[in-house]
Amino acid sequence: MNKTNTLYQYGTLALLVPGLFKGTLKLSELLKHGDTGIGTGDGLDGELVIKDGIPYQIDGHGSVNKLDGDFTVPFADVHFADYKKLFDVESTMTPDKLEEKVMGIKDWQNTFFSIKLHGTFDEIKTRSINRQSKPYPNLVSCAHKQHEFSGENVTGTVMGYYSPQLFNGSAVGGFHLHFIADDLSMGGHLLDFSTSKGEVSAQVLDQLEQKLPVDDEEFMKHDFSKDDIAGAIGEAE
Ligand SMILES: [Zn+2]
Repeated sequence: MNKTNTLYQYGTLALLVPGLFKGTLKLSELLKHGDTGIGTGDGLDGELVIKDGIPYQIDGHGSVNKLDGDFTVPFADVHFADYKKLFDVESTMTPDKLEEKVMGIKDWQNTFFSIKLHGTFDEIKTRSINRQSKPYPNLVSCAHKQHEFSGENVTGTVMGYYSPQLFNGSAVGGFHLHFIADDLSMGGHLLDFSTSKGEVSAQVLDQLEQKLPVDDEEFMKHDFSKDDIAGAIGEAE
């Protein structure tokens, strides 16, 4: 049986900060560790959502593409889904209100968990980025190359992870959420939404399996002491 309490993280968010964007793990490998998750592609090639075992890319033009097993990632988070319903959305909910409500009903600030909101969004705003070419820029300069997308009356899933502040750098401390529409018409890294119809569910992940790209010479030789990891993550994520 698959472990449903483990977050499998490949790479670290910190390695993206100085521009170590090379894809070093195939999706076919990643999917052995989870059927649900988020990530980015080789060269920071779009925003990924893995849903029901199927990996999707929301590319820099906003198109949603199904990915094959040979697609590689520099960073991803996955787990095996076993969500439990938390509540129905009954009044207008935004990302801030969602975070506030979840943290208000659960004492989960010091554990990882995954959260999922399936609903119809009156408004939703996401972003994604085109694949970068070498020499890769750093993450902060990529923040200015993001393309934003917006939708109205879109049904889909907001999903992602909460990581304790202690792990900021390894992951994004706090919430890191992506979106994918049911009809695959849009998606991306979540920026904003408003919904009054949906269901919120969550899954506590009290174990972290952190895998590092030790076969990547560039990563192994990189000196992270000069990178302002926390500052860059705050600015870019
Ligand atoms: Zn993201």
